[in-house]
Amino acid sequence: MTSDTDVFDRMESEVQSYARSFPVLFSKAKGSYLYDEEGNAYLDFLAGAGTLNYGHNNPVLKEKLIAYLSEDYIVHGLDMHTVAKRDFLDMFEEVILKPREMNYVMQFTGPTGSNAVEAALKIARNIKGRSNIITFTNGFHGVSLGSLAVTGNSHHRDAAGVELNGATVMPYDGYMGNGFDTTEYIDKQLSDSSSGIDHPAAVIVETVQGEGGINAASFEWLRNLEKLCRKHDMLLILDDIQAGCGRTGNFFSFDEVGIEPDIITLSKSLSGYGLPFSVVLMRPELDQWKPGEHNGTFRGHNPAFVTATAAIDHYWRDDSFASEVQKKGDIIQERFREIASQYDDHWFYVTGRGMMQGLVCRDGELADAITTEAFKHRMVLETSGADDQVIKTLCPLTISEEDLQRGLDIIAESVEAVMKDKVKQDKRSGLSVA
Ligand SMILES: *Cc1c(COP(=O)(O)O)cnc(C)c1O
Repeated sequence: MTSDTDVFDRMESEVQSYARSFPVLFSKAKGSYLYDEEGNAYLDFLAGAGTLNYGHNNPVLKEKLIAYLSEDYIVHGLDMHTVAKRDFLDMFEEVILKPREMNYVMQFTGPTGSNAVEAALKIARNIKGRSNIITFTNGFHGVSLGSLAVTGNSHHRDAAGVELNGATVMPYDGYMGNGFDTTEYIDKQLSDSSSGIDHPAAVIVETVQGEGGINAASFEWLRNLEKLCRKHDMLLILDDIQAGCGRTGNFFSFDEVGIEPDIITLSKSLSGYGLPFSVVLMRPELDQWKPGEHNGTFRGHNPAFVTATAAIDHYWRDDSFASEVQKKGDIIQERFREIASQYDDHWFYVTGRGMMQGLVCRDGELADAITTEAFKHRMVLETSGADDQVIKTLCPLTISEEDLQRGLDIIAESVEAVMKDKVKQDKRSGLSVA
């Protein structure tokens, strides 16, 4: 690599993470590809960790953004009324909320997902007058202190520096194996006045756990969870920051589930262009904020309103984009199953929903070897899960079927290359392999 990257070692904090997995100097990006300074193309199956659902520099969104900027419309306006904000609210109400008969008000929080989660937790605690929040094993909700308290990952939790309070962790769907509905266990705990669990204000949940390993909750479990919330007077906070905005095959990841969360958080792909943007949706009666009680300098970034409005207008007015996503999700899942079926059961299995699919590897080392191999073929592919053992697909939803197949081919070839060595090693050490 001829690119000069010394300054990153010299100047940038050791906290950098993705840069370590993909140690090249990226320069440009278009659609499903990233380009380095020499112009080499990298197929992007990470896509901003789910932030670029409509691809890099989507031309439809870019055109609106450039026009907005070149006409000197407002870029920063605190939380004042602007034309861009009005257009976004109108569009979101008309195209997303009304057809679903959803009645919510919207709070613009600071620009990160964590900011939205913090606001959601505050709302729930203040409304219910209780501090405890139920969260789930392998849940990820951000790394600011409040959102970290409801996050499972010990690598992140250990960096907090203070005690993380106000949360009780419960087993997510599937955590105790098949045939065990963990909502029954939670119900038992909450019904027992001596269980030691303080009455929670709310439950916070992802329908598909992104950072936690692409664990997809069953619809039945999610419906039981909603019932549990009603039974025990807890608010249901649905964190749709990663699984939402189309990733699972509909705008909201719970669209087909038939539940009505009290509070919804959205971020990542909401602006559609990679511009930071987060919101909290809440049932109107929960909106008991006093003016300015929760604030922030960057609440509602106007250029993000512009691209978010364009994305909703272009992709969500009818079902055609949603069914395209579902179809591509099936292609990924089918291919992953085919890959997994070539080896003994203990090597791989497939998890996920829509275009949020995971190839679960026996361990993190195997997953890392596969994604490292894929990067040699100029593919950006990441892992998630407690031990980084899950290879996840977060490619743009707009990816062409040709590029999708190309990516899946690279994954299949990388698995094959890595497994060749593995199988040899295991044979030598006397383990049975397929
Ligand atoms: C990424 C993510 C967050 C945190 O968003 P940040 O912008 O990184 O603060 C919260 N919840 C979920 C489900 C996420 O995937």
